[in-house]
Amino acid sequence: MPKIVLKNVTKRFGKFVAVDNLNLVIDDRSFITLLGPSGCGKTTTLRMIAGLETPTEGEITINDRIVFSSEKGIDIAASKRDVGFLFQNYALWPHMTVTKNISFGLENLKWPKDKIQARVDELLKMLRIEEFKDRYPAELSGGQQQRVAIARTLATGPKVLFMDEPLSNLDAKLRMEMRTELKRLHHDTDSTFVYVTHDQLEAMTLSTKICLMKNGVLQQYANPLEVYRNPANTFTADFVGSPNINLLNFTLKDMTLKNSDGLTLKIAMCDNSKVNDQDVILGLRPEYVQISNEGSVKGEIYSSLPSGMETIVKVKIGSIQLNSVIFGDGDFTVGDNHPIAFPGIYNLFDKDGNRIGR
Ligand code: ATP
Repeated sequence: MPKIVLKNVTKRFGKFVAVDNLNLVIDDRSFITLLGPSGCGKTTTLRMIAGLETPTEGEITINDRIVFSSEKGIDIAASKRDVGFLFQNYALWPHMTVTKNISFGLENLKWPKDKIQARVDELLKMLRIEEFKDRYPAELSGGQQQRVAIARTLATGPKVLFMDEPLSNLDAKLRMEMRTELKRLHHDTDSTFVYVTHDQLEAMTLSTKICLMKNGVLQQYANPLEVYRNPANTFTADFVGSPNINLLNFTLKDMTLKNSDGLTLKIAMCDNSKVNDQDVILGLRPEYVQISNEGSVKGEIYSSLPSGMETIVKVKIGSIQLNSVIFGDGDFTVGDNHPIAFPGIYNLFDKDGNRIGR
């Protein structure tokens, strides 16, 4: 199957390493998100695949064609890589109608008139912008403009579509709507999507796979639920999920976790049987910290934020404070004491933050 392959790709700006020896296989028709904090190398990676930035070293293949190789001296121009772009400031041509904005690229490619018409109609329908086809960009809302920009990008049927924070200019509600549209669009086209965001929720909800980076180094490349359930290290554990995962220092001995506070947790059998008498970091997702009638320890409610569908609670147990999510429309009184239960999945990390089991 055609795909994108990055082999030992490094980008240096002077002495600064922006992307460090990145190896990545992006399957055909997948939706890949490059995720990580500001400055971690997401945009640089996207730009190198797209042909807008020259890697310092390495090799990039798109659909079995080497588009860049430092060793072989190959560097194919962006315009020859059969790719499309959708950037943050997706400026539409203001003096052209929606139809013209979409058809312009096809006219440049000298497509016959009837084929252009059919393609434009198809895109207007797919993106549900038929009723705006004769309007100018200034007469459209942000979300409508965004959909026109997507239609324009898709017009020539690029095999790979690059998107760099395309939703960041939109308000929260519209962003949510556009996420749905993008996911549906991915389903409706044959294109591979490569998407840059620093928004973990966007990455979690949209992607088939997340490429999570830190300081130019790949931390984990896996599907969103895998990253959520089995984070490779404390950085990836902490980066995905809201509220944040609880990361707690314990000593593990004979399958029992003890902390300096005297808090003891008996852990379920897991693949860490070799780990004994060792300082570990326990990763506990908020949904596994439950306020119940029969918890093993008592906790004091520090804060309670009900939102109708769920309540985000901070619970104090001795000197530690835990994030908890309680589903449903409950509320809790600050200062009350409740039994706390830990009904499921733990992740264990070593002192350096690397995953050692669950
Ligand atoms: P953001 O989310 O803030 O856009 P990013 O993860 O996309 O961040 P990049 O834009 O890929 O980060 O930049 C990675 C690092 O490389 C940053 O520290 C940035 O300052 C640096 N960098 C990027 N472009 C250049 C350049 N042309 N010259 C020098 N340094 C650069």
